Amino acid sequence: MAQFIRPEIIRPPSESASYFLPLTSGCSNNTCTFCNYYGCKLQMRDVDEVKAEIDAVALYVKDRAVLPGIPNIIYHVIDHWWDGKKIFLQDGDALVYPFERLKYVLEYIRSKLPFIEQVATYGTAQDVLRKSADELKKLKKLRLSLVYMGVESGDDEILQQIGKGVTSNQIIEAGKKTKAAGIRQSLTVILGLGGNKDRAKHVEATARVLSEIDPEFAAALTMTITPGTPLYNDWQDGKFELISPMDSLVELKAIVEQSNFSDCFFSSMHASNYFSIRGKLPQEKERMIKELASIIEKQDPSLLRPEYLRGL
Ligand code: SF4
Repeated sequence: MAQFIRPEIIRPPSESASYFLPLTSGCSNNTCTFCNYYGCKLQMRDVDEVKAEIDAVALYVKDRAVLPGIPNIIYHVIDHWWDGKKIFLQDGDALVYPFERLKYVLEYIRSKLPFIEQVATYGTAQDVLRKSADELKKLKKLRLSLVYMGVESGDDEILQQIGKGVTSNQIIEAGKKTKAAGIRQSLTVILGLGGNKDRAKHVEATARVLSEIDPEFAAALTMTITPGTPLYNDWQDGKFELISPMDSLVELKAIVEQSNFSDCFFSSMHASNYFSIRGKLPQEKERMIKELASIIEKQDPSLLRPEYLRGL
């Protein structure tokens, strides 16, 4: 078997205090045209190697003992970043890890690190749909309690154009299945993904899909063109137009307005966004819409995050 290459740490902002445990490297759906995982090769990590890392973490937590052959990053994460309560499974869609192996790893975490309160992962709709309802419930019992899923857009044409590999109905099905298993979800959508041409339908369909799933968390990112991706080439060839920073706020406001949640924490705190809002929906809907309307009305670029501070 090829040697497993430990992936770079790519994680949601809310996982900054987690321990980062790689089960995979890359993403199984490597076709999204805007993503820097585009064309990557998926690697599955051997379970014995994952076990060895969990053993090393347990030993260091208990006795501060450092084992030979264990990468320094493990000790660095424990000493400098980790809150000692949460684990984030890497990489781009660690939920693709086969059920029996994932179950084993979660059981092993439970036995060696019993103080862990939450295990979270990125997962695609395809990963969720490949698992049975019963399997998802078993994973939840083993403390897999949060799945981050990229919805990106609710519009089928846009989903097809960006190579997402699923339809909006499949995304909704995956969202409902995750919810039925009691696993919380954090969904992301991308402002500007429809370019200028498809702004209205992108926003409308995205708000509809978010509302149908009704997740615990939802977050907006803003389209950022990554060199080396097919979307970058389309942009350079004039086939894809980036929306303006102010128009990204118009999209954000429309999504907040058009979404119907029962109890969702909605934010645009990610560094790709031009303006950050956060709040509970529907409880703080009016306040969030007013805040966005006021920025849009002023049309003052100095109120927005400068381009050099943006990132994906
Ligand atoms: S599924 Fe997610 S991580 Fe994978 S290529 Fe698409 S956007 Fe990137």
